[in-house]
Amino acid sequence: MRPARALIDLDALRHNYQLARELSGARALAVVKADAYGHGAVRCASALAEEADGFAVACIEEALELRAAGIRAPILLLEGFFEADELALIAEHELWCVVHSAWQLEALERARLARPLQVWLKLDSGMHRVGFHPADYRAAHQRLLACAQVGKIVLMSHFARADEPDCPCTAEQLAVFQAAREGLAAEVSLCNSPALLGWPQLFPQQRPSDWVRPGIMLYGATPFAQPLALAERLRPVMTLESQIISVRELPAGEPVGYGARFVSARPTRVGVVAMGYADGYPRHAPTGTPLAVDGQPTRLIGRVSMDMLTVDLSDLPQAGLGSRVELWGAQVPASTVASAADTIPYQLFCNLKRVPRSYTQGS
Ligand SMILES: *Cc1c(COP(=O)(O)O)cnc(C)c1O
Repeated sequence: MRPARALIDLDALRHNYQLARELSGARALAVVKADAYGHGAVRCASALAEEADGFAVACIEEALELRAAGIRAPILLLEGFFEADELALIAEHELWCVVHSAWQLEALERARLARPLQVWLKLDSGMHRVGFHPADYRAAHQRLLACAQVGKIVLMSHFARADEPDCPCTAEQLAVFQAAREGLAAEVSLCNSPALLGWPQLFPQQRPSDWVRPGIMLYGATPFAQPLALAERLRPVMTLESQIISVRELPAGEPVGYGARFVSARPTRVGVVAMGYADGYPRHAPTGTPLAVDGQPTRLIGRVSMDMLTVDLSDLPQAGLGSRVELWGAQVPASTVASAADTIPYQLFCNLKRVPRSYTQGS
């Protein structure tokens, strides 16, 4: 059997979830959209079912998959409904629903539902993607209050640049939010992972009844490009690993792989790994991207192909056929691989495919 696989440590997932709750002192919706960032939504949600205050997903299809798997906890639809005819199912399955646009508000007012929905009213506090303009927020809240289809209302917004420690944006967005919600008594939800890890000064604003929305930190990866004390407390959940399936000894001056993107500067021992871009490993990862062979750090060389990639074994004489290769995991942080490949760990995880996942309870 091809040795490429992703090991998922569910104990680490639970540890990271508890950290999100402990840091904020608030309740936490575990964000499991996009198949739990490639980690498997049903398995991850089931592993958190006993402790999680709830879950968040991108769309009703993702929520129904969790309900079908027996997840009874609250599930928030982060973009609400895409078509008004989803509303009946949303009510039937008691899903919580973001309302971010005037058309959604109007559709709710027109709907006749079996039971009132819990609605999370989204403010555009500066990201300018979705959410009500601050000048319209209060009126939207008033209309929801008056709407028979609506039960509880939670006030929410989303940070655009919380992963930039020196950016004044996050504090500015907070100020816009505070001004817009002035006088509205309700639970509040603001923090994503970067806000939780990088903006502890926000936490005094959170009450125990408020909500945080950790995503990437649950999976143990830091959203920050720079080292951060709190991020050290995360435990990586995914280990992407494979094995060396072939070894070549090359003299100096020989090319390796498609396009001869690497040419040996010295005699080079090349290991071929069963892992490629069809597995989700980034094709644009350059020579020098870190990985580990039998626990020893080394580097990717040459172009990543669809099913294979090549690594430098010149300084690892013990390594050979069958050696274990960690592409990312506890030894090689996904965020380090991501920055070498000019992307973010979110995308590395979400791109994962073909590789079988195997789950452990860890420890
Ligand atoms: C995806 C998402 C999150 C989680 O973001 P992370 O950076 O992964 O923590 C939180 N809130 C909203 C609205 C989202 O769409």
